[in-house]
Amino acid sequence: MLVAARKGRYGVAAFNVLNHFTLAAVLEAAEKEKSPVIIQTSVATVKALGVQALARMARGMLDAAGVPVALHLDHCQDVELCRRACDLGWDSVMFDSSHLPFEENIRVTQQVRNYARTKGVDVEGEVGIIAGVEDDIAHAQTSLAGYDDTMRYIRETGVDAIAPAIGTAHGVYRGVPVINFDLVGRLAGATACPVVVHGGTGLEDAVFRKLIELGAAKINISTALKQTYVDAMRRFLAENTGTVNPLKLDRFIMDQVAGLVVPFLRLFGSSGKA
Ligand SMILES: [Zn+2]
Repeated sequence: MLVAARKGRYGVAAFNVLNHFTLAAVLEAAEKEKSPVIIQTSVATVKALGVQALARMARGMLDAAGVPVALHLDHCQDVELCRRACDLGWDSVMFDSSHLPFEENIRVTQQVRNYARTKGVDVEGEVGIIAGVEDDIAHAQTSLAGYDDTMRYIRETGVDAIAPAIGTAHGVYRGVPVINFDLVGRLAGATACPVVVHGGTGLEDAVFRKLIELGAAKINISTALKQTYVDAMRRFLAENTGTVNPLKLDRFIMDQVAGLVVPFLRLFGSSGKA
């Protein structure tokens, strides 16, 4: 999916889903837009739902989807959980050992990649440290990725996608982020390994367009979906105090989440590419 995106000069959106109906809403939006899409699960979501229950539910829904779709495990620091995800049906895992010393980051990522290969699962890696809070993982400071380190990491680990810390952050931006566009362009020009952008929530449309133009192939959206989910729930409950109808509440949330997803698919240029 990411190789096709690079070739076609569009980006594939990767949404962090939380449960059955946020997943269904993302799929509905992608099918409506005839767009490829990536369904991501954070480690916190995996733990909340149970790895086996989530695998069965997500695999069933993805296999029935009418567009290209992949199930991805986001920011996993636990080698064992990465292996389980590979065993249980995830298409791709992000092994995040970016907090370790660089040599160690390479060594452990190699181990995960070697195992993933035996299962036909792709691996995304991270170089530098992406700031902010992503569920259970929090980093106060960005540590920007360097070009030489990132190229060496890609070569030596053989990862299938690379998330260099380019100045974007998880959560809600305070102020305008300073983004190292140059690094994205240089990496995309020098390696076939697709570049992933984390911290997509809150970036300007022009920033997304520029990143995709420079060669970014996967863009993660998590915080915006959480906000939409909770806002929709609050709004429905405030507007429907006299009724008890969970299915209508779920449907309302799904419509709001699908309404969040569609503009991203259009902005990233993936609409109509499935
Ligand atoms: Zn991330």
